Amino acid sequence: MPLTKEQVLKQYFGYDKFRPLQADIIDWVLYGQDCMVLMPTGGGKSLCFQIPALMMQGLTIVISPLIALMHDQVQALQANGVPAAYINSSLGSSEKSAIERQCRSGELKLLYISPEKLFANGYLEWIKSLNISMIAVDESHCVSVWGHDFRPEYTQLHVLKTAFPRVPVIALTATADRVTRKDILMQLGIPDARIFISSFDRPNLSLAVQPGRNRLKTIQKFIAERPRKAGIIYCLSRKNTEQVSDALLKVGISSRHYHAGMSTDERAQVQDQFLRDNIQVICATIAFGMGIDKSNVRWVIHYSLPSNIESFYQEIGRAGRDGVRSDTLLFYSYNDLLVRKDMIAQSELPLEMKEVQGAKLERLKQYAEAEICRRRILLSYFNEEVTHDCGNCDVCKNPPIRFDATVLAQKALSAIARTNENVAMGMLIDILRGSNNRRIIEHKYHEIKTFGAGKDLKFEEWADYLQQMLNSGIMDIAYDEQHVFKLNNASWAVLKEGRQVQLVRFRPFEEKQAEREASITKDKTKKEIIRDELFERLRALRKRIADERDIPPFVVFSDATLSDMAQKKPLNQTEMLNVSGVGEQKYTQYGETFLTEIRAFIKTIPKSSVAAGINTAQYSYQLYQEGKSLEQIAQQRELNPVTIISHLIKLEEEGVAIDWWKFISKKEYSDIVAVANSLGIKKGEAVKPIFEAMNGKYDYYKIRIALSIKYQ
Ligand code: ADP
Ligand code: ZN
Repeated sequence: MPLTKEQVLKQYFGYDKFRPLQADIIDWVLYGQDCMVLMPTGGGKSLCFQIPALMMQGLTIVISPLIALMHDQVQALQANGVPAAYINSSLGSSEKSAIERQCRSGELKLLYISPEKLFANGYLEWIKSLNISMIAVDESHCVSVWGHDFRPEYTQLHVLKTAFPRVPVIALTATADRVTRKDILMQLGIPDARIFISSFDRPNLSLAVQPGRNRLKTIQKFIAERPRKAGIIYCLSRKNTEQVSDALLKVGISSRHYHAGMSTDERAQVQDQFLRDNIQVICATIAFGMGIDKSNVRWVIHYSLPSNIESFYQEIGRAGRDGVRSDTLLFYSYNDLLVRKDMIAQSELPLEMKEVQGAKLERLKQYAEAEICRRRILLSYFNEEVTHDCGNCDVCKNPPIRFDATVLAQKALSAIARTNENVAMGMLIDILRGSNNRRIIEHKYHEIKTFGAGKDLKFEEWADYLQQMLNSGIMDIAYDEQHVFKLNNASWAVLKEGRQVQLVRFRPFEEKQAEREASITKDKTKKEIIRDELFERLRALRKRIADERDIPPFVVFSDATLSDMAQKKPLNQTEMLNVSGVGEQKYTQYGETFLTEIRAFIKTIPKSSVAAGINTAQYSYQLYQEGKSLEQIAQQRELNPVTIISHLIKLEEEGVAIDWWKFISKKEYSDIVAVANSLGIKKGEAVKPIFEAMNGKYDYYKIRIALSIKYQ
């Protein structure tokens, strides 16, 4: 009895259910029909041809544009016990003949090949002599000049349908727009093929946009909150990748840069170390990513604005391919937008292409400045109807609060007018806040009427509001004159006619972060803590096995599989095979080793801190007693330093001695206490006013420490 598609899914890949559309596509192909599959990166395209390939008589040819991609896919298939191989220029002649022999004998089910190889001297003729069951064209947007990775070799692929008229062709891509779509089908000679379009939503990716200030500091915090979690930072220029990476290395984060200016060897090496979890962070230009199948990328940051929503979506799509929760962050400033506009203006493109690019950039701007659910904007770009807000973007989590900012805007505009449109952001804010610095006195700006008119707002608040005013066009900026602000017609309408201005209330990043942390830690039950501990042990085991076998860890098991394993805690074969992603081959290879680890872990639980009834605060205290630094404790516990400090404060209140001076200097202490005294802050009151009064000079946790020393 041949296996059903569900059985193949379970036996080879270890999964219980198909994702939407996968089953329909497989049936269609098995029925001998051509089709095109549009799914986002990480959507699960590969199974759509791999499963029918296993079920059909004969060999499936997979056209794939990149050697790295072929290698990774074949490695993953082999790890699941699927007879697959690739032929490309990297193979020696004896390896190549061995594979050709396996093709003829029918041992192989899938053969990956590049178009160059396919059309090289007589190869197609040789393939014609084989029993071919199906042809899959992966990354099929490469056939179209409209797609973003056009490859001239792909344009000959129409020959395939002529050579194999009865063999079903399946074209796969993550690029969605209509023009490219139609072109792909024409180019492949299958104009009437059915098109399967899955939703482009990737609900496991969180979406967030941050103003482009203090980028490095924000990134450091972001990474500190995600210990050992791999991520990619996309930068605009080669130089920028090096700068960001160096800055991260300096603070002890394992990071490397990657760009097209490096030698092929260097690039391959960096990529390989990243795949093997030996490098945590890659700072890269867009040269990095296509052909990276690493499924456990847990976050993607855009240091600068990408060129359009397609590129952006494809780049963030490299996070969370295993379906596990992953985070994305885009930095956005008005200046970034202008840089992009300049790039378009200065490019060699024909005028109408420039217009298209400009319009596309505009859509990305809408995403960046969105005040409604960001996912709605992304999905509507891909022509998808969205019926509800996603709940997993920053706008959904912190809905913007608008207020009448007419007076505020008038103060700023009037100061710009009174300084003869000659000041940039920093100086303007100093004037508004009434700072008495040397340059202000020199220019006699302290004598103008609006000097100090905006004292009530902090520096970063003004910076945020001025940025919003720029974005909404009620003033201009002259980038060719040291970024000084200029007034326009809208400005005068606000100043003279009292035209209304609405802005979104500013909330500091720290405040949002702290709230988020608080809600996460509150919810972590004992059971979840045990699960997370086990996950860490399984992850370490996976790394050891991967290194022994010289393969990337995610090829052993994905993060999704480890996480399911840590949740289910299987103790025997049947239970282990029940874990999502554990197929028969993987069970044979690794099942027992992982079972042994889980059994050993379960035995330690009664002794472990958690099950002995020790709560999360005591766990932090234990690490503190081991002499770990605050940073290390926060990393190990994957919590914010503020949370760790609140644990220690709680224990201190219960009579445990804590040496706070390990975490704060005398100078910092007296600075903070001075402000606390001047504000009349009493024991147990909120620390936010102090944080604000000091303009965010010290982290929340330092303020908490200072106060707890003060009230000891
Ligand atoms: P794409 O090629 O569309 O970018 P992949 O085919 O690499 O995506 O699939 C992404 C991830 O999802 C892989 O780790 C794959 O094993 C997993 N996956 C695919 N289909 C399923 C399924 N039905 N159930 C669980 N996981 C799946
Ligand atoms: Zn949302």
